[in-house]
Amino acid sequence: EDPAMEITQALHRAVQQTPERPATIAGERVRTWAECRDRVARLAGALHALGVGPGDRVAMLSLNSDRYHEYLLAVPWAGGVVTPVNIRWSPAEIAFSLEDAGAAILLVDDTFVPAVPAVLAAAPVVRTVVHCGDGDVPEGMVSFEALVAGHEPVPDARRGGAEPYGIYYTGGTTGTPKGVVLSHANLLASALGTAASGSFMTPGGRLLHAAPMFHLADGAAWVARNVVGGTHVIVPMFTPAGVADAMARHEVTDVLLVPTMIQMLVDAPEAAEADLSSLRNLIYGASPISEAVLERAAKRLPAAEFTQAYGMTELSPVATLFSPADHAVDRLRRSAGRAAPHSEVRIVDKDDREVPRGMVGEIVCRGPHVMLGYWNRPEETATALRGGWMHTGDGGRMDDEGYVYVVDRIKDMIVSGGENVYSVEVENALAKHPDVASCAVIGVPDDEWGERVHAVVVPAAGASPTADALREHVKGLIAGYKAPRTVELRDALPISGAGKILKRELRAEHWQAADRGVS
Ligand code: ATP
Ligand code: MG
Repeated sequence: EDPAMEITQALHRAVQQTPERPATIAGERVRTWAECRDRVARLAGALHALGVGPGDRVAMLSLNSDRYHEYLLAVPWAGGVVTPVNIRWSPAEIAFSLEDAGAAILLVDDTFVPAVPAVLAAAPVVRTVVHCGDGDVPEGMVSFEALVAGHEPVPDARRGGAEPYGIYYTGGTTGTPKGVVLSHANLLASALGTAASGSFMTPGGRLLHAAPMFHLADGAAWVARNVVGGTHVIVPMFTPAGVADAMARHEVTDVLLVPTMIQMLVDAPEAAEADLSSLRNLIYGASPISEAVLERAAKRLPAAEFTQAYGMTELSPVATLFSPADHAVDRLRRSAGRAAPHSEVRIVDKDDREVPRGMVGEIVCRGPHVMLGYWNRPEETATALRGGWMHTGDGGRMDDEGYVYVVDRIKDMIVSGGENVYSVEVENALAKHPDVASCAVIGVPDDEWGERVHAVVVPAAGASPTADALREHVKGLIAGYKAPRTVELRDALPISGAGKILKRELRAEHWQAADRGVS
């Protein structure tokens, strides 16, 4: 066992060094690190009283809040394992994950109170529902604040090292989300490695949580902020105006956003006037970003440094980092950066042999951040971790200096007329057209070509580009066979709870119904 690797250590350090500094700022509510430790130790006492013992799972279904931060610390303090629940799931999916994880305690905020009866009916494993909202405590639920007020502080259980810290569910972008078991050491390896890479997060600064806290992209930023010290500024969920307002009001220095959020933030008229000059670091990742959106973001945030992280829940989650300095180099533009200080990355073929530099294969990764395994899925764990490397399911290539280029998810690649088309490359070309706000490119059934390249486009405000214009534009940038044969305009794209475009939903429409009258 390695006692140096505990998620709660950061809390002890913060109280020792900066007890009066705010730990959390959520709306009007500010709590210092000293208060935070007191509340966490009391909440842990309450969890003991509710029966939580070593390794027991405690689930949380909530928008972002300061109580989410306390939950993430109190559960390990009590010896338990956090199980954050995806806020976009249906009651049936929530119930499935609670049963899957075996969580006897569920915390819910006001937003999710209406879902509770259906969840409980399908998840008999849940014995106690803790209400962690600000509204009235519904009948049959226990109040979070009453638990904190009604229990004495208990000592930190000091679990850590290779013991599980949490079960984080994958984004559910490609199918049913899988529970990923991550240890304290897994998460801290990724956070320390990421922090060691440089200007990623301002020490003592203020991190804005706008991406959902249930998802590990934000979860990892939370760990990193704790490691380097500072304050968590928390908004319930991402909205362009809410983010712009919180940034300006609380002098936020760092933020993690996924590309769909960056696009909305930089394009939203309601956020156009806000003063975002306090921002030092914009961290992004979790899905591909187009150069066009990146350029718009750089214009809107001239004082911020940009860091891209590539990885996955299974990698706690960082595998590679594309630094602020890298961003200045034209030739590297499409890269996701190089292996982070804690990680080792290779590109391999179907037989797990490393491919020559420059060739496309599957990205695999090794290091102290690789998950313990998928919860309750030994076969999928063995397949994913074969040979001691995490197989990402992402296609990529590596250049001579170790820069990794994520070309596409293997499941999203399109085979049209025998040619491989990477959906991401086509999206990137489309996004450079001024009339395109966002887009998704998928393969749809085609009698002649097997699969046909199809684009779903959300036009920029007031624009209505024609299919021909977009096709010609793409052909001017990349090989003609990659240009979308059909184009469909929509008001919005389906987005997952983690803020990713759900191409499987777009695909499903086409693989069921044939022609939907697109041009
Ligand atoms: P599921 O596994 O349930 O289908 P998911 O893969 O979206 O969902 P996550 O673990 O949240 O679940 O996401 C990891 C994936 O996100 C990676 O495998 C990769 O496809 C994509 N990704 C992450 N970071 C980047 C990045 N910087 N650039 C491109 N793609 C990225
Ligand atoms: Mg995945």
